[in-house]
Amino acid sequence: MDTEVIIHLVANSKKIKVVDRIVDAMHKITGAYSLVALTSKKMVGMRDPHGVRPLVLGKLDNAYILASETCALDIIGAEFIRDVAPGEVIVIDENGMSSSHPFTPPAPRFCIFEHIYFARPDSVLENRSVYEVRKDIGRQLAIENPVDVDAVIPVPDSGTPAAIGYAEQSGVPFELGIIRNHYVGRTFIEPTDQIRHLGVKLKHNANRAMIEGKRVVLVDDSIVRGTTSTKIVQMVREAGATEVHMRIASPPTTHSCFYGVDTPSRQKLLAAQYDLHAMCKFIGADSLSFISLDGLYKAMGETSRNAELPQYCDACFTGDYPIDLVDNDSGAEKELTLLAERS
Ligand code: SF4
Repeated sequence: MDTEVIIHLVANSKKIKVVDRIVDAMHKITGAYSLVALTSKKMVGMRDPHGVRPLVLGKLDNAYILASETCALDIIGAEFIRDVAPGEVIVIDENGMSSSHPFTPPAPRFCIFEHIYFARPDSVLENRSVYEVRKDIGRQLAIENPVDVDAVIPVPDSGTPAAIGYAEQSGVPFELGIIRNHYVGRTFIEPTDQIRHLGVKLKHNANRAMIEGKRVVLVDDSIVRGTTSTKIVQMVREAGATEVHMRIASPPTTHSCFYGVDTPSRQKLLAAQYDLHAMCKFIGADSLSFISLDGLYKAMGETSRNAELPQYCDACFTGDYPIDLVDNDSGAEKELTLLAERS
C-alpha cells in the first residue's frame, strides 16, 4: 500500500526527469522509510530526512548495491561502503553512483529499536556492530538490575547477545536453558492471539538439564504484549527452576510504532496498561526489571538521552514521536483524494 501511494505521486508529478519526479513525490510524504526504486536505466535509493530506518551502500566488483542491512552485503560477498545518510538520494546508473541531499535535514532520529531487536546481530549500524551494542546493553542491564542467581538464560534468539553481556558483567554462568526451534516464524508478527499462544509452545523448549533446581535470570530484548514472557516463565518453572527473574534489555514499551513496524495498539501493550509490579505478577516472575532509558543511551555510547533533542527515535518507550502523526490530513493524502475523485 505504501509503495502504491508513492507510485501514484511519482506518476502525477509535474517534473520531467524520473529522479526529480521521485524526489518530488517524497517531498509530499511524511514518515519513516528507506526506499529503492528501479527504472529501466537507473536504481534510486533514498532515506527519509530523519533517517529512522537504515539503508546501506555496498559494492561488488563494478556493481553498486543498496540494502537495508550490512549482513545482506556479507551474504553475497559485497564490500560495505557506507550508510546512506538521512535524507540522501543515491542514483546508480551506467555512469556510476551520484549522491544528492534534496531535503532540508532535521536532526537524525535513527530507530533505537533497530539496535535492540530489529537488525540482525551480524549487521553493522551507524558504524557499530549490532551484536556488540546488544552485549553492552546487557552489561548495563546487569549494572542497573543485579540479582543473586545461579544461571543467566537468554530468551533466544533475540535476547542472546544481551544475556551474554549480562553474564559477563555479573560473573554468573551463561546457560542455554531454552532451546529455540528454528523452523517456526517470529511470534511478534503472528496475527491472532490463538496462533501466538500456540507459536510460543512451538518456538521454545526448556532445556531441563540447565534449569532444574536453579535460580535463574531470563534475559529478553523487550516485552510487548507479555504473552511470550508469561509462557516462557511458566515453562522454565515447570522445568524445575526454583526462582525465575526477568531482565529486559529495553525500557518498557508503552507506545505503538507508526514508522513501519507492526506493533499492537497501546491497549495491548503490557507496559501501557500496568505498572512494574503488576507486569511482574502478570508474567509470573519472582522479579522483573528493565534497563533505564539513560542506561540504554549509555550502552549506545552516549552520555545520556538529550531531552531537548534526543539522539534516536525512542517513541515506543517515551511517546516522543519525532515525525508528526498526521497521515489523515497530509498533503499526499489530499493529493490522493483528488486523484481518486478525478479517476
Ligand atoms: S517508535 Fe520505536 S520501533 Fe518505531 S521507529 Fe521509533 S524507536 Fe523504532
